[in-house]
Amino acid sequence: MLNRDKFFIDGRWTAPSGQEMIDVHNAGNGEVMGRVPAGGAKDIDAAVAAARAALDGWRETPAEKRAEYLDKISAGLKARADELAKLIAQEVGMPLKMAARIQAGLPIANFANYARLVREFSFEQKIGNSLVVREPVGVVGAITPWNYPLHQITLKVAPALAAGCTVVLKPSEVAPFNAFLLAEVAEAAGLPKGVLNIVTGTGAAAGEALVKHAGVDMISFTGSTRAGKRISELAAQTVKRVALELGGKSASLILDDADLAAAVKGTVNGCYLNSGQTCTALTRMLVPESLYPEASRLAAEAAKGFVVGDPLSETTRLGPLTSQAQLERVRSYIKQGVAEGAEVLAGGAEAPEGVPAGGYYVKPTVFGKVSNNMTIAQEEIFGPVLSIIAYRDEEDGIRIANDSPYGLAGAVWSKDEARAQRVARRIRAGQVDVNGGAFNMNAPFGGFKQSGHGREAGVYGLEEFLEYKSLQLKG
Ligand code: NAD
Repeated sequence: MLNRDKFFIDGRWTAPSGQEMIDVHNAGNGEVMGRVPAGGAKDIDAAVAAARAALDGWRETPAEKRAEYLDKISAGLKARADELAKLIAQEVGMPLKMAARIQAGLPIANFANYARLVREFSFEQKIGNSLVVREPVGVVGAITPWNYPLHQITLKVAPALAAGCTVVLKPSEVAPFNAFLLAEVAEAAGLPKGVLNIVTGTGAAAGEALVKHAGVDMISFTGSTRAGKRISELAAQTVKRVALELGGKSASLILDDADLAAAVKGTVNGCYLNSGQTCTALTRMLVPESLYPEASRLAAEAAKGFVVGDPLSETTRLGPLTSQAQLERVRSYIKQGVAEGAEVLAGGAEAPEGVPAGGYYVKPTVFGKVSNNMTIAQEEIFGPVLSIIAYRDEEDGIRIANDSPYGLAGAVWSKDEARAQRVARRIRAGQVDVNGGAFNMNAPFGGFKQSGHGREAGVYGLEEFLEYKSLQLKG
């Protein structure tokens, strides 16, 4: 058992104020893999006090010195990369090999990248008679989800620390162990006390206490749109800055001149990554009516290639969902798709065979004959469920792609690169892949509409944690 019984506050392992614990389940077999303390308002108070006390010292620490700490944390995570990958493969359910590359690899890269970016960043600019300086926002409350748990954490913690902010992190209670590993690495790196504090707990208790706290200057949140709305309301009481990275229902728009096989393959891979538990998952595949039969056949065939199984097994391509709640939610969406008249081309709501007992496994599913007003086309399912929607012409395809309360991501496919880019510009979303363009950690990441506001990654993510100040000079 991986039990943890203390928080990381003010550079020390600190006993929680209460007795309550939270069970953390192994996604592959459903067993309790360990417990973490359920923090409350008192624990958050202690963490915020430590972060406030550390703020002046940290913001005055030269950027070069801050960068050295980030480099040390990156190296510390790298030294424990295998342990980290295995831990997150069990907490989240992502197949181990992929978890090593993504779930462990990205956090290591994020810290190193922000060390580089802050070294290059110019904190001052002269405009007329003013000197415009960039200052850290202050104490940052970071609240993160479970699907890419340490990646989401490091996309906040690394740039916030680089900017000179101090942080109180409330990681997801569903996959919290990786956050403790980060605390150990930060401690070993000699990060000054109070600069990074970690309190585990539920959103309703620890999360809301952090959002409401008058000693917190900014909340950086990644998670569901439902929680994002609540956080915005609560944060308004103290007029703190809020950055929201929320859900999505992204469209992959395949134009009539696309390489259909490549486009369908790219879409299915983009939909099923991390068992569909990816905020940018391409869950709606939009195809011209004339290509619908062939696109459906290719998608169903691709889905069957996703071998479902134990995340620690070499042959697994699709791990389990992360929790029992996710399993019930995804199955109920599949049943709803059937009830609303969509056609099951692959998978379905029944449990897959030959998987470990107790794990949260679901079949990779493809729905055909979906219309965009169906529930499965409008709501974020967060599971391996692809909906194929036929459109009449390019204009109709763009209209359907944008007919969503969300605007996080998208994809456009065409052999004519200029056409693909022209269509991509018309998609109301924060990032659109053109012909399978690769993820770029230096490009801004974030949403339009109900997918949130603010941007993470690259220099854009660093600027999120900076305030402008102008000094009007006389001569
Ligand atoms: P969630 O909103 O349930 O929880 C996210 C975090 O917020 C957790 O730490 C939780 O404890 C906390 N929380 C919940 N309610 C809260 C409240 N009222 N006040 C304060 N904190 C609260 O989301 P989840 O199930 O962990 O993650 C899945 C969601 O995250 C999906 O909707 C997904 O699309 C989204 N997501 C978005 C991005 C992005 O960058 N846009 C990235 C990953 C995940």
